[in-house]
Amino acid sequence: MEKHNLPLLPYVLDALAPHISHKTMEFHYGKHLQTYLNNLNNLIAGSEYENMTLEEIVRKSEGPVFNNAAQSWNHIFFFEGLGKASANKAEPTGALLESIELSFGSFGAMKEQMSKAAVGQFGSGWAWLVVKGKELEIVTTSNAGTPLKEGKTPILCIDVWEHAYYLDYQNRRADYISEIWQLIDWAKIEQRFGEAVIGK
Ligand code: MN
Repeated sequence: MEKHNLPLLPYVLDALAPHISHKTMEFHYGKHLQTYLNNLNNLIAGSEYENMTLEEIVRKSEGPVFNNAAQSWNHIFFFEGLGKASANKAEPTGALLESIELSFGSFGAMKEQMSKAAVGQFGSGWAWLVVKGKELEIVTTSNAGTPLKEGKTPILCIDVWEHAYYLDYQNRRADYISEIWQLIDWAKIEQRFGEAVIGK
């Protein structure tokens, strides 16, 4: 069977510092994500899921297989949307900016609404920006929940599990959310938006 492996990231593990430390990345990417992938590979061996893509498993499974597949997919999507603050495209432009303005009024208003949703998600979960026709909407999910499961197409997510920020910010989730905007690679998010719109 094809094993699901830790993806190579387009940046080194200390590239996100000081907003997200090297230590957090060692644990979050190197241990938490690796564990979800290991659990998934063990659970699907010899099952109907063993030759499916990660996305197919997320769409079709329930229970422990879903939890580990979705956490693997969510984390890869999260990490691939980040980059070194000084190297990132700092703001969206073009068709994505137009859709943000149509949906929320302004880029600043979108960040404010998504931050509020992320801070307000009770317990472990995720905040997402998802495509809805020509517009965008903000949704949150609990635990391993993912918009993919509801047939929605996300273009950006923020991990609000405590393991995402506790080493750097302890209980201060709002401070972590406020800092993470500097790490969003808007070139990547624009690319995802383009693919989502073409795919419709
Ligand atoms: Mn996480």
